[in-house]
Amino acid sequence: MARKVVGILCSTSNKTDTTPARHYLNRAYVWALEQAGATPIILPVTSDLDIINSYLGIVDGILLSGGEDVEPQRYGAEPHPQLGKTDISRDETEIPLIKTALAQDMPLFAICRGIQALNVALGGTLYQDIPSELPSELHHLQSEVGFARNALTHKVTIEPNTRLRSIVGDSDMMTNSFHHQALQKIGNGLIVTAHSSDGIVEAVENPGCSFLVGVQFHPEDTTHDEKSRRLFEAFVGAL
Ligand code: MN
Repeated sequence: MARKVVGILCSTSNKTDTTPARHYLNRAYVWALEQAGATPIILPVTSDLDIINSYLGIVDGILLSGGEDVEPQRYGAEPHPQLGKTDISRDETEIPLIKTALAQDMPLFAICRGIQALNVALGGTLYQDIPSELPSELHHLQSEVGFARNALTHKVTIEPNTRLRSIVGDSDMMTNSFHHQALQKIGNGLIVTAHSSDGIVEAVENPGCSFLVGVQFHPEDTTHDEKSRRLFEAFVGAL
């Protein structure tokens, strides 16, 4: 069967004294999609809506990768003192890309920053800093306590009768965790499908879409784990 094409939205970094402006993407997203049977391509950021529409003519599905924080003005909030680095160029691409893709019911899988951007695009809001706004026993930024990208460090509990539950095939899964922000008010059409034990939203979906799933963790880094691999297989299977 011919491989379907997945466009991965990448991130940007600004010009500095020593480096030019750049696009960047962790290679794990590409590897996970290849392993699941798709052909990944990387989508550059753009503020041109014609180009965004053109992307949707090329790809069969969209993967929103992790990245820096979404600009709080996008959801009507003032910047919190602990707001991290933002990626305004990516916001400019991602919000219209999400809206246009969903208007066509194009399959979309959103990871980390991706689930946050998805929520904002659909009218939701974010906690800008978990440690100060939602103090927790868990380490949602596991690199701060010395864990590698591929370490499964906290459990998430999955709601029954959800797509996520049928994909994972279980009521919970272990995940990695590399976020300091979290979903607050949930965007239109989304339902929460998984939480960590401290109540943080770890996954959402829209059951009315062909495939619209967002996760706060990074399954692309844990493809040694069958439940993580199934997420990519289900997404590619829906293309
Ligand atoms: Mn987490």
